[in-house]
Amino acid sequence: MGLAASPGIAVGKAWPIDRRRLKTPRARLEPGQVGPEVERFRAAIEAADAQLAEVREKAAAVEGAEHLAIIDMHRLMLKDEMLVNEAQRLIQTECVNAEWAVRRAIRKIKGAFSELADEYFKERRADIDYVGERIVKNLLGQATEVEEPPPDGAIIVSHDLSPADTALLLHERSVGAFVTDVGTRTSHTAIVARALEVPAVVGTGRLSALAVRGDWIVVDGSRGVVILNPSAAERADYEAARRRQLEHERALLATRDLPATTQDGVTVQLVGNIEFAEEIPNLLAHGGAGVGLYRTEFLYLARQDLPDEEEHYRTYRRVLEALAPRPVTIRTFDLGGDKLPVGAKAEAENPAMGLRGLRYCLRNLEIFRPQLRGMLRASVHGNLRVMFPMVSGAAEVRAAKRLLNELCDELRREGVEARVPSVGIMVEVPAAAQLADRLAKEVDFFSIGTNDLIQYTMAIDRQNKDVAYLYRPLHLSVLRTLKFVCDSARAAGIPVSMCGEMAGEPFFVLVLLGLGIHELSMNGPSIPLVKRVVREARASDGQALLARLLELTTAGEIEAEVKSEMARRFPGLLDSDASIGPAGG
Ligand code: PEP
Ligand code: MG
Repeated sequence: MGLAASPGIAVGKAWPIDRRRLKTPRARLEPGQVGPEVERFRAAIEAADAQLAEVREKAAAVEGAEHLAIIDMHRLMLKDEMLVNEAQRLIQTECVNAEWAVRRAIRKIKGAFSELADEYFKERRADIDYVGERIVKNLLGQATEVEEPPPDGAIIVSHDLSPADTALLLHERSVGAFVTDVGTRTSHTAIVARALEVPAVVGTGRLSALAVRGDWIVVDGSRGVVILNPSAAERADYEAARRRQLEHERALLATRDLPATTQDGVTVQLVGNIEFAEEIPNLLAHGGAGVGLYRTEFLYLARQDLPDEEEHYRTYRRVLEALAPRPVTIRTFDLGGDKLPVGAKAEAENPAMGLRGLRYCLRNLEIFRPQLRGMLRASVHGNLRVMFPMVSGAAEVRAAKRLLNELCDELRREGVEARVPSVGIMVEVPAAAQLADRLAKEVDFFSIGTNDLIQYTMAIDRQNKDVAYLYRPLHLSVLRTLKFVCDSARAAGIPVSMCGEMAGEPFFVLVLLGLGIHELSMNGPSIPLVKRVVREARASDGQALLARLLELTTAGEIEAEVKSEMARRFPGLLDSDASIGPAGG
């Protein structure tokens, strides 16, 4: 058993990849050996850099900016002063061999990271290890670059996979699944596997030590199950489950190119939430009509340095062009609290309520300005909408819009083509929801972020399992809030979207139709089922249901009413135990 990292079932032959750590030799140098040792160290860095450059070139042929950014980050780490100076100092002053000096320098850098508890920084420690390992391998003359590619459908089993490994393996586009001993749901392997729909299970402990090339192996990435050497019966069961899953998906995809229009003629746009440009083909394959939420902070978190305006521009232009003429809603950085770039970690007692989202950006203009300028320039290449996260009042919206307009003028004065896109806000703070009637006059659209809106409305920390039972999208207070936001948008004549997890749950479709939401934004693979429910529903039934719900009192009563209505209208469509809502988000 491991962690379910990317859904889907795969049955195939194991292809173990040895990524075990090398044993680092330790030796004392004679004074005369110090100079040559420093040279040997420098040569190893150059060799490692040349290898990564080659990896990058191969990956660039098919992979997107995310993988390239990771490889670039590794190349930067190779040249990092802390690493180079510290290792050189150890060679020169402590007369230790280069391999040992590299290990100690890496340990010191990782020490600085280990005080930071969150998963993201843990993942960066894996990147630092990867870089150190590569230098040591070169010192030992063991850097193998050309590896035999796995056969079609092979199941990659490894202690760990570096982002560069994953990128290269997927370059072949034939991987059946990934299984790693270590890792979390936010590992790059997991993110990339999900984006490209390759099943993955991570954190299996020590499977890589047990699997032998050619062993049969079953991977269920939805449940985190891995069976090494399954019995014939187990293999047959999983093969059958895999076929059922694929058939089910294929059937749902039959409506891919049809609109999400209800029986009584109401059309809802079904669009995607993305974190990386790599997810676009997957989104389109599931019938996404555009992007309703592009979480740009991920662009920023996977690295140590700040993206400059040019990089913002190129990234957004690529996304816009890939989707044009479909709309792309780019959310400005929702940074702050626990989502800060490396080196900018600020301690906050309660990060969810701290300097986050638009508040953080308005306070850190050196980070905000290049992002906005990049967006304004990219805007001429597609159908861009910009949206600001964590808005709590009109003053913030006005400040952000003023800045956007100023930057547009500035660009034009510089002779650069730029266009102010349509501007919206995330409605995810109760204060903003309460002001929806006023805010609707300030912006072009709303997008309701239920993950945070429910967290703040119910006073429950999204990360805290003890209060997860209170995460109830159908709580009357949430429902009333949603209704007020949607009514305010309608009165002002602006569209309202929803991009929190609630939007992708088929169970809520009738309620959302009743609220009159124009656009639902979710993960690509959730689109087909939601579309099927929308196409079989009547918006008028949703309105009638909503009216009844608003007469009830407890979340339990409301959920029971929705459940019975859904079961009546869509018998067999939803699992009998269809979730009442996402557990956190
Ligand atoms: C939300 O809060 O619902 C949302 C979509 O934003 P995030 O999950 O990125 O906070
Ligand atoms: Mg949010």
